[in-house]
Amino acid sequence: MINFNIPPFVGDETKYIAKAIQNRKICGDGEFTKKCNLFFEEQTGSSKVLLTTSCTHALEMAAILADIKPGDEVIMPSYTFVSTADAFVGRGAKIVFVDIRPDTMNLDEKLIEAAITKKTKAIVPVHYAGVACEMDTILDIAKRHNLWVIEDAAQGVNAFYKGKALGAIGNFGCFSFHETKNYSMGEGGALLIRNKNDIERAEIIREKGTNRSKFFRGQIDKYTWVDFGSSYLPSDMNAAYLWAQLEKFDEINNSRLRCWDYYNNALKSLADEGKIDLPFIPEGCIHNAHMFYIKAKNLEERSKLISYLKNYDIGAVFHYIPLHSSPAGQKFGIFFGEDKYTTKESERLLRLPIYYGLSEEDCSYICKKIFEFYK
Ligand SMILES: *Cc1c(COP(=O)(O)O)cnc(C)c1O
Repeated sequence: MINFNIPPFVGDETKYIAKAIQNRKICGDGEFTKKCNLFFEEQTGSSKVLLTTSCTHALEMAAILADIKPGDEVIMPSYTFVSTADAFVGRGAKIVFVDIRPDTMNLDEKLIEAAITKKTKAIVPVHYAGVACEMDTILDIAKRHNLWVIEDAAQGVNAFYKGKALGAIGNFGCFSFHETKNYSMGEGGALLIRNKNDIERAEIIREKGTNRSKFFRGQIDKYTWVDFGSSYLPSDMNAAYLWAQLEKFDEINNSRLRCWDYYNNALKSLADEGKIDLPFIPEGCIHNAHMFYIKAKNLEERSKLISYLKNYDIGAVFHYIPLHSSPAGQKFGIFFGEDKYTTKESERLLRLPIYYGLSEEDCSYICKKIFEFYK
């Protein structure tokens, strides 16, 4: 059986979790949490990185920091995970879905401006498959209309746009360390903060609305409730799992890239024959091999291919059902303009197995079966 995903494990996780336990500091913000925060501050160039309990929670923190209020509008793609929308729905926002580009499956930057109204407060680009959205255009629109940019970079850890780390480009960026992501801590995420002015409030929101972080740094002599917040900091045992992988940051990335490149080269002739489409990486984007997908002709062909591969014990899977066609999406959002690509392209897309340690033999076997299917 070739699984679609196997969570990354590099070997030192158990040792570091034991260390976290020995530290007698298994709650949040212990040794390993601090190490991970610092690692990502250096790696991304963010002013501040705070480990969170999930990417969903990092997005919630960003929505609170952006002061999203009932009636505000937030622009995002419909082709995304539910959390992208949930975080803003939780603050009472109306979600305005904009169509995607068929080449990258990302928010179509050319359609954003027309969807802006007086109520628009934020744009939420999602870097699908670790391939960057057109951030220069998005930042320019945001600047002219005075909007927040909150990057859903759940899939974008260790990926870049014109030399800048994804997640560190907008006002806030949100990473995921769920077990399905490139680097994992079981459940977890991080909030990336670009402007120093936003750091203090972020720390308060993450600590149940208290100024406890300041207290622990010795900047005040007692802590108190100063703002709205929740509990967004993960246990240091989870951070210990992540830290082992950050020590193998490039090794994990290279292993995934090898699979990605293998698929991309091996399947090229099928794409040249016009039978399938392969992912597109725009110039200036460095991706992280979070995902390898192909596109079949249509929904029917994709379903047949999934079953065909399943017969050979290959776990190939489809992805998001567009949010605007879901019950909650209809309740909390509207699709602005025409759905030219969101539904059509999502129905064609099929993800192939990719994970740290997936062997070339397995990739080769999978490609062979795809060729057989198309014969
Ligand atoms: C995985 C993912 C999330 C959610 O991440 P969690 O850490 O599970 O909360 C959000 N958005 C996108 C695009 C994702 O891929």
